[in-house]
Amino acid sequence: MQEQPKDASLRRIYRNPPSRQPGICPVCTVPKDPNYELCYACNIHNGSGLPLADFVAPLSWAPMGGQAYADLASYKDEAQQAVADVAAERLRLMLRLAFANYAQCLMPGWETSTVAIVSIPSTGGRKGPHPIEAILAMFTPSIPRLMPTYVGDTDRTRNGRRQLRLEDWAVDAAAVAGLTRAVVIDDSWVTGGHAQSIAASLKLAGIAKVGIVPFGRVLRTDWGPNVEYLQGHPEPAFDSHVCPLHGIKHA
Ligand SMILES: [Zn+2]
Ligand SMILES: [Zn+2]
Repeated sequence: MQEQPKDASLRRIYRNPPSRQPGICPVCTVPKDPNYELCYACNIHNGSGLPLADFVAPLSWAPMGGQAYADLASYKDEAQQAVADVAAERLRLMLRLAFANYAQCLMPGWETSTVAIVSIPSTGGRKGPHPIEAILAMFTPSIPRLMPTYVGDTDRTRNGRRQLRLEDWAVDAAAVAGLTRAVVIDDSWVTGGHAQSIAASLKLAGIAKVGIVPFGRVLRTDWGPNVEYLQGHPEPAFDSHVCPLHGIKHA
């Protein structure tokens, strides 16, 4: 993670989430109704009373219909391997730059062995390793890796995923022992239901601090506040020097 690859190939495709300004959900960065503190889904999570992630730091925004959104699906499309490889390469670069520039924001103390990288398994019954594993292989083997087991239905409709469902996830207590922090890395954040359920499971298993780093915060393009924001800020211009957690360039 020492070298600094250039982010030129990302600039025209991705966009940084905005800083946590008024009108933006302070958890997941989506534009929100100004009358509410959080976006609709985050508000539901908040009302669960469960211990949620200490931070959510999407590396990019992925408006539906755009290339960033396409990348989040196509990198795991085994039917189109060449397309998948190109998308995976971009996502790998984005993650590498984020941790090269801001490991101390996203994963403070990672040099010690008490911080784990957590990945989310497929909930749809996919066979074999999840394609995100090939991307996460960039992390040094000295960083512990953790993957909860999905024990819920494989045929649940997408709407059900907004709710937090602790009972869908099993965390290996032995694997968690001694860890003080975990960073859950996921491909896309739609409602965050899965990622927050896992964060809560990890915290209840004894990990004090849990962050979530999605590659892309998916944005519906038929929702007023999203449309308004995107129209007011039409050009994607990804800058890997903007900290995904704090939304600024640290000096
Ligand atoms: Zn939110
Ligand atoms: Zn930062």
